Amino acid sequence: MAAKRRFRTVKGMHDLVGKAPVFAFVEEKAREVFSLYGYDEVRTPVVEETELFVRGVGEGSEVVGKQMYTFDDKKGRSLTLRPEGTAPVARAYLQHDMASWPQPVKVFYMGPYFRYERPQAGRYRQFHQIGAELIGDPGPYSDVELLVMLLRFLEQLGFEDLEVGLNSVGDVECRKRYSQRLREYLAPYRDELGADSRRRLETNPLRILDTKVPKERELLENAPRLFDDLGGRAHDHFREVREQLVQADVAHRIEDKLVRGLDYYTRTVFEITSTALGAQNAILGGGRYDGLIAELGGPSVPGIGFAIGQDRLVDLVLKIPGAFKRLNAEAHRRRPVCVIAIGASYRRHGMELAQELRAAGIPAVCEFDSLRPLKARLKQAARHDCRWVVLFGEDEEKSGEVVLRDFSDRTQETIPRDGFAAAVAAKIRPDEQP
Ligand code: AMP
Repeated sequence: MAAKRRFRTVKGMHDLVGKAPVFAFVEEKAREVFSLYGYDEVRTPVVEETELFVRGVGEGSEVVGKQMYTFDDKKGRSLTLRPEGTAPVARAYLQHDMASWPQPVKVFYMGPYFRYERPQAGRYRQFHQIGAELIGDPGPYSDVELLVMLLRFLEQLGFEDLEVGLNSVGDVECRKRYSQRLREYLAPYRDELGADSRRRLETNPLRILDTKVPKERELLENAPRLFDDLGGRAHDHFREVREQLVQADVAHRIEDKLVRGLDYYTRTVFEITSTALGAQNAILGGGRYDGLIAELGGPSVPGIGFAIGQDRLVDLVLKIPGAFKRLNAEAHRRRPVCVIAIGASYRRHGMELAQELRAAGIPAVCEFDSLRPLKARLKQAARHDCRWVVLFGEDEEKSGEVVLRDFSDRTQETIPRDGFAAAVAAKIRPDEQP
């Protein structure tokens, strides 16, 4: 008989085995910090109408042009697994008439996103983002506050040496004007460009600016600069953002070739990198999208937001010695107590004892395999990383006690059965006792 096939994750998708607690840790930190700045959490569906991304993110973008998971449902409606979070939030803003709420509306979100990309280190087809959007204020103070919040979040995770890369892609009009100038500048070099850039020359010349191809980068050295084309208001906005960043003590670098991949950006765009960890790519990116809500059929309402690549963030957090230690300490505190009932007829008591521990807020697991020798069962408890074991059997029932064993120094003591959970709590978490 042929062996049964074993299943594996779909190409480009990964299980969070072992890393899930670190994912949860950064999510908790995000909730904590973002709510200090007045942001509320929202969750939108994983599936949206395809048209939302085509119109919102733009057909010229790589994401929409090449990377979407798009399918027809049973009624022939074209649906897409969300490749990013801003267009869905903009849709929700309109659908729930958030324009009538006190402005600006500030929301954050987190979850899985999908892009059909070539899988490579740190890039997946299902990845995770933590993002936030501030809708209804044109800035520039909102731009600065958003960046300050982000830095605070990253610092709380233990990052140091953070660098903000900043640019302005101008308003729609400046972008159009500049795209044309760039096209004209690059036209004589058309044959020297790679296939991707040649295609972008027609569809989205701005994207050529962030090419990684050395030859193309060389060609771009003398290209016209985007911010020489900024219209008066976009120019003033950019100047004010920079001034206020200085006031807020935020170190930043102007990157005149930073354009970001999604079409909806206007004016401020940014990325944050951490040089200390040797991260070459951005931990996150974001920017202003003053035309997006109108593009989706709504009023002309400005917005700004960012998306953090959570997979990359978690990998980097694991490299920070301090953060890892904190995480470990936290995990250590949550190591469960193992309850071992000695003798098959005491298993029910074992369950009750474990329940009492949990009711006192102490994680507890039961070792039920009463047919095995006690030594093997204690070994099993150690393998589960339990430091403490509660033993209970015939002798303990008679004396009205339980035995508490500490693996760390191989000592044990007996404590009264009544109220034992509180005694265990005082013993294992002396720092938390009133
Ligand atoms: P974007 O939505 O393209 O502006 O990307 C924001 C952040 O999401 C990036 O800085 C990346 O860290 C992360 N990201 C985007 N695409 C992927 C992917 N396929 N796999 C992992 N992370 C991604």
